[in-house]
Amino acid sequence: MTISELRKKFLSGEYTPKEAVADAKSVIAEKDKNIHAYLDVFDDAEKMAEEATSRYQEGGENIPPLCGVPLAIKNNILIEGKRATAASKILDNYVATYDATVIKRLRDAGAIFVGSTNLDEFAMGSSTENSAYGPTKNPIDPSRVPGGSSGGSAAAVAMGSVPAALGTDTGGSIRQPASYCGLVGLKPTYGAVSRYGLMAMGSSLDQAGTLTNSVEDAETLFKVISGRDPHDMTTIGPDTYGAVATKETYTFGVPRAFLGQGVDADVMERFEAHLDQLRADGHKIVDIELPLFEAGLAAYYIVMPAEVSSNLARYDGIRYGVRKEGENLLETYLNSRADGFGAEAKRRILLGTYVLSSGYFDAYYGKAEALRSKMRDELNAVFTQVDLVVTPTAPTPAFKLGEKSDPLAMYREDIFTVPVNLTGVPAISLPMGEVDREGISLPTGVQYIAPHGGEARLFDIGRKIYDAKRYNNG
Ligand code: GLN
Repeated sequence: MTISELRKKFLSGEYTPKEAVADAKSVIAEKDKNIHAYLDVFDDAEKMAEEATSRYQEGGENIPPLCGVPLAIKNNILIEGKRATAASKILDNYVATYDATVIKRLRDAGAIFVGSTNLDEFAMGSSTENSAYGPTKNPIDPSRVPGGSSGGSAAAVAMGSVPAALGTDTGGSIRQPASYCGLVGLKPTYGAVSRYGLMAMGSSLDQAGTLTNSVEDAETLFKVISGRDPHDMTTIGPDTYGAVATKETYTFGVPRAFLGQGVDADVMERFEAHLDQLRADGHKIVDIELPLFEAGLAAYYIVMPAEVSSNLARYDGIRYGVRKEGENLLETYLNSRADGFGAEAKRRILLGTYVLSSGYFDAYYGKAEALRSKMRDELNAVFTQVDLVVTPTAPTPAFKLGEKSDPLAMYREDIFTVPVNLTGVPAISLPMGEVDREGISLPTGVQYIAPHGGEARLFDIGRKIYDAKRYNNG
């Protein structure tokens, strides 16, 4: 069910938040042993559901928009009084002392949190295999990954336990799992959603966003969680957005050369069919060039680890989380970090420390940042000719657990998503239809990229084609 369908049923009294939470819990009890979408399931959800049920029974105006809607939350977002592990051993015992701004806003809108979801450690990965608590499986084919790093949130929605979940997206971690699990995944404009209370991975790239079954639900949640926040000075309000108007029909730009980089043939076929459908609906498709985007992945894997190495310095066994005592303070730091971080976290801390070191700063970090600002110029120039850029979300459908043991092969899954974070613009992944792998139909995703502050355009076109079931999305 979608949030809007739930809301209708709650308002008519046909279904209650109490029943919705009970149903969410029974789906979790039945399926999550196998899928492992959740790290913790919350036992106060029933109490919140009772209050929400009474609120609907009282009736009247002004019932908050998400009253009684059960949600799942990625476990790198702080919920007061709940464990916040980022799926890392180093935070196994860490309990959040306050609500993230996004949580506070959802709470004020009446949402119910049923549990926290699994992720790649500190959101670093594309498969949710890097979790210290074991991988999450794709509900559509449990021999495959749900994508990552918000794989737990995507699986929680795809297995039908909740209508929507929050994720975070630093390089594709909402859009890519949405694509692998057949969902709608929104990565907002940088600054549109507060990062206060999100565990930082790459601070200049991170954004919280949504995994939903419809574009309308993505918009509903975005309206609740977005906006200025005095706790995060990078936040912007709708008033600082550019004038990004919606239109009757759009001009889409397709970066053909960029797409030449190893997309599976049948995914490309689905993409071409999608473009044909857009054309048939009166939209215009033009070829564009984004040559610098081809270096996006290289720039990302310098900028992101640099920021990771700095952000993860705070986990030292003293200030947060699990401590492993040594003979002296330095040894305590070393023991806690050596024992607490997994292999991928260590790889990125090493890489980031290296590119920031005084001898290499100019050669790597400086260059990557310069490239990043040129990418922004390149994209801005394209947006003077087209309204939206369109690509597949990922080059492949969901892959098998363990298939991408080479980190570089894994990083390539992010080729189309990372430029969006580097340039700070918003993007949405919509189901694009299915491809067959070993006799199982697996979803694929199409990514629409809008200019800075152009969420309205993503919602508009997304509703027109996906929610309205205009296209055969498989
Ligand atoms: N998969 C990308 C990475 O491993 C993106 C992660 C993310 O968006 N959090 O860094």
